[in-house]
Formats: sequence, structure tokens, C-alpha cells
Amino acid sequence: MLLAVALSLIGILLGCSSPAGTPPATAPGVPLSAAPDQPPATATTGAASAPPAPVAPAASGDATPTLTPLAPLADLRVVLDPGHNAGNGAAAATIARPVADGRGGTKACNTTGTATRDGYPEHAFTYDVADRTRALLEAEGATVILTRGPTGVGPCVDVRGRSPQVNDADVMVSIHANGSESSAPHGFFAIVVATPLNDAQGAPSRALAADLVAALEASGFSPSAGGALQRRDDLGTLNHATRPAVLLELAEFRNPAEARAVQDPAVRQRYAEAVAAGITAWAR
Ligand SMILES: [Zn+2]
Repeated sequence: MLLAVALSLIGILLGCSSPAGTPPATAPGVPLSAAPDQPPATATTGAASAPPAPVAPAASGDATPTLTPLAPLADLRVVLDPGHNAGNGAAAATIARPVADGRGGTKACNTTGTATRDGYPEHAFTYDVADRTRALLEAEGATVILTRGPTGVGPCVDVRGRSPQVNDADVMVSIHANGSESSAPHGFFAIVVATPLNDAQGAPSRALAADLVAALEASGFSPSAGGALQRRDDLGTLNHATRPAVLLELAEFRNPAEARAVQDPAVRQRYAEAVAAGITAWAR
């Protein structure tokens, strides 16, 4: 009796755990390629003939399996600054108020931004691209702060420029579109401070700009004929930043082809994907 129990136990064990790489005798003709997918022989039920369960890959050591998704950018804090605002046009006196330009002078708090000839405003474009970029970066685990919501007035450029350090962010990208009066200019460009006021405005900001330019080009966007990287000292948003910061002019709103393109949500998603890719490349 004892022997019979022992023999049946052996049979059960063999049936439940055919050694990896040894096709079951009852299934001749099973392609060899099917064998390596078998899960480790730890199952306690008779599942030998069932297809491999979609379990997570076995850890090579004794690490406890976890369901927490990987978050590659979990330590990254990003400020995205959508240029201008929807209420600026109706608040001329407020946005004309002089604020510190970051270099000892003053300049207007903010401006209305440009618009396409058929009326699509820059502030709507910049907010939508920033919001899409936020979603992409948050999906990778980053913490993302926008300097404004979809409506309202301002904030002023000095507040925008201080936002990365105020929010203890690693990086700021300010999102704009250009409004050259001629329809000839086309393409994007990135702007960094020409004469850095602190270390962050130097090499770290130029490296960020290079990664953003590379990502935009890799996404099929054309750089401006005036140069993909430009340098200016008159932008309060950049002057006030003490963390790496870049201002992007993503498109020319008076160029007919680009004016049509920026009104396509799919194109704005491509801009967002490129900006997120550039920030991700810089962070790694
Ligand atoms: Zn702008």
C-alpha cells in the first residue's frame, strides 16, 4: 500500500514537472521552439499540458517579484512653460506692466503672442503642446509643473523664469511659436541665453537645447534657416532661470503650410513627443 502511494506520487510529480527541454512523451512533434517558453517547474497543479501562463519573467535571483511599473523618469522634475495666455489680449494694461528683465532693466510682463492668419492663436498651440508633453513625461514617472492653465492672464515673464527654481525643478522648457510677418520663414529653433548669468544658463542649457533640436529633427521637423540654435539676452523667461532652460519656437505661424499643420492635433502630438523625447534624452 505504501509503495503504491509512493509510486503514484512519483507519477504525479513527473507529470507536473517535465524537465525543461525534454518534450513530453505524449506530445511528439511539438516544435522544439515551444519548450524554452515553459515556466519554471514550480506549479503545484496538473498544468503540464496547459500553455505557459503569462507570468512575469522569472527573476534570476531571489528578488521578490513586484507589480510596480518601471518609472525611468521618476526622479525628474520638469517645468513646462506654455507661452502667453488666453486672457492676455483682453488685459492689455496688466500684461504691459513692467517687470524685471533679469539683467537690470525692465520689460513687459507678458505679450499676447502671435496667431495664424486665419486666427489660430499661439497661446492655444503652446498650451496644447505643453499639456500633451506633460502627459507623455508623467507616463514615464516624471513630475511636471505647467506655469499656467489653459485660460487666464500671464503669468509675467519673471515669474515664469523663476518657476524652475521655485518648484525645485531640474529643467524648464518654454514652448512658443514664432510670428515673423513674412510668410517665408519656416521651421523651428531653440533659444538659449547668449551671455549666461549663472552656470545653469551655460553648458547645461546648451546641452538641453541640443537634445531638443535633435529630437525635433528626428521627428521630421525642419530647423529654421536662421539656425536651429539661437542665442538672446532679452528674454526674461530665460534670464531669470537658475536651472537649465530653453525656449522653443516650434513653428512659424505666418508660414501657410506650418499654419495649417499646427492646427492639426496629430501634428501637435508629434511636437509633444519630440519635446518629451528631447527632455528624456537630456535627463539620461
Ligand atoms: Zn511666443
